[in-house]
Amino acid sequence: MRLDYVSIFPDYLAPLRLSLPGKAVASGLLELHVHDLRDFTHDRHRTVDDTPYGGGAGMVMKPEPLGEALDTLEVDGVTVVVPTPSGRPLTQALAADLATRERLVFLCGRYEGIDQRVLDHAAERAELVEVSLGDYVLNGGEVAALAVTEAVVRLLPGFMGNAASLVEESHTDGLLEYPVYTKPAAWRGHEVPPVLMGGNHGAIAAWREEQARERTAARRPDLLHASALAGGDDGWE
Ligand code: SAM
Repeated sequence: MRLDYVSIFPDYLAPLRLSLPGKAVASGLLELHVHDLRDFTHDRHRTVDDTPYGGGAGMVMKPEPLGEALDTLEVDGVTVVVPTPSGRPLTQALAADLATRERLVFLCGRYEGIDQRVLDHAAERAELVEVSLGDYVLNGGEVAALAVTEAVVRLLPGFMGNAASLVEESHTDGLLEYPVYTKPAAWRGHEVPPVLMGGNHGAIAAWREEQARERTAARRPDLLHASALAGGDDGWE
């Protein structure tokens, strides 16, 4: 998979080179390209923003540098991911869908966001996916792009050292994951549940299923209702 990022703070995306994504780049599974939006400007100040039409606080990202970035990156037919609080919520289902693409191009917003015409134009020549990390406002799209990347790339075949660890994770089956334990069996007065040490795989599976259901009902009952109502469909196109 090839991933491109357009940002005015390319250094923000340095963590992409760490840990498992870094290994995936080294192994050739991932190709990463980070682009400085200011490289697509032509004025002395390398301007990427301007005042909003209609007035109001803050600045808006100008269309020309972003348009030139889209042209240079030849986005026609690929998937352009734009982080925005107005976007489709990032879910495991969306991550799994994005993991099927050959190429993702992230446009990281700053200030009050991106001139709407950039998004309209991108949608005419590429698949446009506007993604929200949650119902709060960040300073920029870089953290969201990193989060989307991490959720997506760990689903690529060959990315995880042990693919089995993806199978029972939170949100894979609509439930939160059951609690997990490791050695020692007793720690500061807290014991590991005996069923996990008994070697009865059927009993362990049943305990984990029950714990996942209880935890989901207690912490995120909306997940149970959503999957019952929509069969796991989040309602976005
Ligand atoms: N004025 C915008 C609004 O009210 O929707 C918020 C702009 S925010 C300060 C700047 C940039 O941060 C956005 O263009 C977007 O790229 C990113 N951003 C902020 N919150 C986000 C969220 N919840 N999910 C994804 N991206 C977000």
